[in-house]
Amino acid sequence: MKIEHIGIAVKDLDASNQLFERLLGYPPYKEESVASEGVVTSFFKVGDSKLELLQATNENSPIAKFLEKRNEGMHHIAFEVDDIEHEISRLEQEGFKLISSIPKKGADNKIVVFLHPGTTNGVLVELCQEIKEAAQHDEANRDQ
Ligand code: ZN
Repeated sequence: MKIEHIGIAVKDLDASNQLFERLLGYPPYKEESVASEGVVTSFFKVGDSKLELLQATNENSPIAKFLEKRNEGMHHIAFEVDDIEHEISRLEQEGFKLISSIPKKGADNKIVVFLHPGTTNGVLVELCQEIKEAAQHDEANRDQ
């Protein structure tokens, strides 16, 4: 595992892209919307890790709810795993609560699950696994 990225909730993605571009000295390498989560995201490389900025696209988005409660700021920390299904069952056995135990497609070519912050010291933890050819197939089958 490594820290794949840190997610930051923002109100205005364009303004925050400019802010982080000034901070880091370079622009985001991509923007991507994830309709299922109601977010539009941008990514900045920071060494081996990334920053993911997230803006809500509708009021039911988890990001809209987060902004309402806590305002802008750090939203989640994402760990990269090789075998997400294995980690899910391992963590469930360890007593962690998952928001959903079924991985879904996230931004940046990943399948992701989130651990409930209630069991992780208040930190929303994301596990993500790079989508490979075979996994993409599974995803497509699951959707049918
Ligand atoms: Zn994330």
